[in-house]
Amino acid sequence: MDATGSNLSYLDPARREPWASFIEQIDRVAPHLGQLSRWIETLKHPKRVLIVDVPIVRDDGTIAHYEGYRVQHNLSRGPGKGGVRFHPAVTLNEVMALSGWMTIKNAALGLPFGGAKGGIRFDPRSVSRPELERITRRYTSEIGIVIGPDKDIPAPDVGTNEQTMAWMMDTYSMNVGGTASGVVTGKPISLGGSLGRREATGRGVYFAAREAGLRIGTPVLGARVVVQGFGNVGGIAARIFSENGAKVIALQDAETTIANEAGIDIPAALAHVAENGSLLGFAGAKRLSEDDFWQLDCAFFVPAALEGQVTPARARAMRAKIVVEGANGPTTPAADDILNERNILVIPDVLANAGGVTVSYFEWVQDFSSFFWSEDEINERLERIMTNAFEATWQLAQERKVTIRTAAFIVACQRVLASREQRGLYP
Ligand code: GLU
Repeated sequence: MDATGSNLSYLDPARREPWASFIEQIDRVAPHLGQLSRWIETLKHPKRVLIVDVPIVRDDGTIAHYEGYRVQHNLSRGPGKGGVRFHPAVTLNEVMALSGWMTIKNAALGLPFGGAKGGIRFDPRSVSRPELERITRRYTSEIGIVIGPDKDIPAPDVGTNEQTMAWMMDTYSMNVGGTASGVVTGKPISLGGSLGRREATGRGVYFAAREAGLRIGTPVLGARVVVQGFGNVGGIAARIFSENGAKVIALQDAETTIANEAGIDIPAALAHVAENGSLLGFAGAKRLSEDDFWQLDCAFFVPAALEGQVTPARARAMRAKIVVEGANGPTTPAADDILNERNILVIPDVLANAGGVTVSYFEWVQDFSSFFWSEDEINERLERIMTNAFEATWQLAQERKVTIRTAAFIVACQRVLASREQRGLYP
């Protein structure tokens, strides 16, 4: 359709990413699946794709249209689950890939969900708060035909937060004529949200990093850490790394790249971002060039921004021991091979950033039972699920002599495709 990311742009061979990366990851795991590989095509075809028009009246009286999506990649193991992204670069292709990674992530962690994802292509910072509310509500109403507490449960992702989820919950509830808390997760605590949900993705990134470090003799204590992205994932992960004695030596957000060899004061950096919206102008570090950032000598490198950031060229330049994927899809398959050849351990997104959806699962369970757990209980259960999944994946990687990503995909694809086979094809 257009230059801004057309409806069916995933069919355009020139604009295949990141869905093409997801397909390549699936192709790589297929030979490890034995007879279940006969079902592999299931994972290369999203079950259901919904494209919606989201029109609103802007504050100045004009009418604006936005394009939104909800993709249910696979529902074999349970209702769809995955976030909603508000970002100017959202395309159907991207939402498809993100929904596929949710299928893998949920299955790798053993959560009783399929995989889904949604998004709207716009910059949430370019509209007023009332406009943002109207966009969110109209989008929710449009995708209302496919979501629901036992059908598909959205959550926050890049550009969305607790307020977005409150509006989504309210809109869905108005449409069904009741209060449906379980239709979204990542809600404010007062509306049935879960303690610990906001920090869960960053906390999980830390657990994954710690577990990886323990196994290759790279403890967090005293480790040099580099974080790309300083939002809800990168910001919290950086904070927990520093609370546990690591030295965060460099940070990058959408506006700037900064470094401080002595270690950045993370609470001060977070306070600066809360006040100014970005790291730009933060006094506790000096500016660093993009090239230097990717070449920093560090124990843990945490890409926690968007897809496709670790390119082959960057993978050749990186001097990290462990890459912990806080973002979804930050490493291209070609870059993944280079990191692997260079003996840089990669803890894949589907394991490393699964803390968020794991606590979303807890939130959903708490909403169903209307019985709420303490923050300690949440964090303990999160740690147990993450460390168990890590250990199982690590063992399998050793046994099969494959990467951690391939091992996580083997575990996940086996679970999804075994469910597919047991359920059988309808009709
Ligand atoms: N958007 C998060 C992710 O990519 C969380 C999804 C959820 O909680 O459903 O994993």
